[in-house]
Amino acid sequence: MEKINLGISSCLLGETVRYDGGHKLDRFLTDTLGQYVQYVPVCPEVECGLGVPRESMHLEGNPDSPRLVTTRTIQDMTDLMVRWARKGVVGLEKEDLWCFIFKSDSPSCGIERVKVYNEKGMPIEKGIGMFARIFMEHFPLLPVEDEGRLHDPGLRENFIERIFALKRWREVLTRKENRGNIVDFHTKHKLLILSHSPKHYRTMGKLVARAKELSPREFYQQYQTLLMASLYLKTSPKKNANVLQHMMGYFKEQLPADAKKELLEVIEVYRKGYTPLIVPITLIQHYVRKYDQPYLKKQIYLTPHSLELQLRNHV
Ligand code: SF4
Repeated sequence: MEKINLGISSCLLGETVRYDGGHKLDRFLTDTLGQYVQYVPVCPEVECGLGVPRESMHLEGNPDSPRLVTTRTIQDMTDLMVRWARKGVVGLEKEDLWCFIFKSDSPSCGIERVKVYNEKGMPIEKGIGMFARIFMEHFPLLPVEDEGRLHDPGLRENFIERIFALKRWREVLTRKENRGNIVDFHTKHKLLILSHSPKHYRTMGKLVARAKELSPREFYQQYQTLLMASLYLKTSPKKNANVLQHMMGYFKEQLPADAKKELLEVIEVYRKGYTPLIVPITLIQHYVRKYDQPYLKKQIYLTPHSLELQLRNHV
């Protein structure tokens, strides 16, 4: 399987590029996710010409357009970083990145709530790292996360689902532009989309239904925008329980009364947060196989990538 190219702040891979000569190795990123992706490491502070070790820096001034300043000798590094970052993001275009994982809280790499100091030296957590801001402006559609958020099982699951969905979408893009390819992709992803956003599920269904009114190019663009927006929204036990009950509808005629009651109980126990999603999913997979349900058999929601599957093990 072709790997997904993922940009990453170098220190998260254990590279000793931090201002103090240290690193911020993250084992989930290297040992687990690293099996499925190809990392493209970037350390903006080293690559813009600052050495290791170096003086620490922070953001100061207006949170919307802060300056990057060294904390001891008060040297302004903003122009150096901005000049390099603008070239750096153009250089990254050839890497065919599908996501970027940034180091949280860094004045160069943080994607949100980075401390910005005012003239009195008081911090407010409203900034974006200088390189991360330029990166996100240059690649507005690319998913970004920071490693801090990925420690939350729900956000981690959401991120992993997004990158694997993007990978499957990229495979569609490599084929000839053809409405049928999207209809096939959409059919397989319907329940995954529903688990993230019932609203997008309805809108995307309507878009697919009027596909013939649009040029293939317009259809691709509109579909891609909605796909990314829908998967960005987090799933929840309530949304997943609705999807599970929806699936049950496909074989409820065949299911004996006691099995139906048991399945509804298993879904309810999951919805209340006592068991992980993998429990009702496994039971439904069993019935899908048993009753040979053709539509559900195709659903990515029931047969995701193995890493996505492992992530459904948390409560
Ligand atoms: S947070 Fe960013 S700039 Fe700082 S060491 Fe890590 S990669 Fe380099």
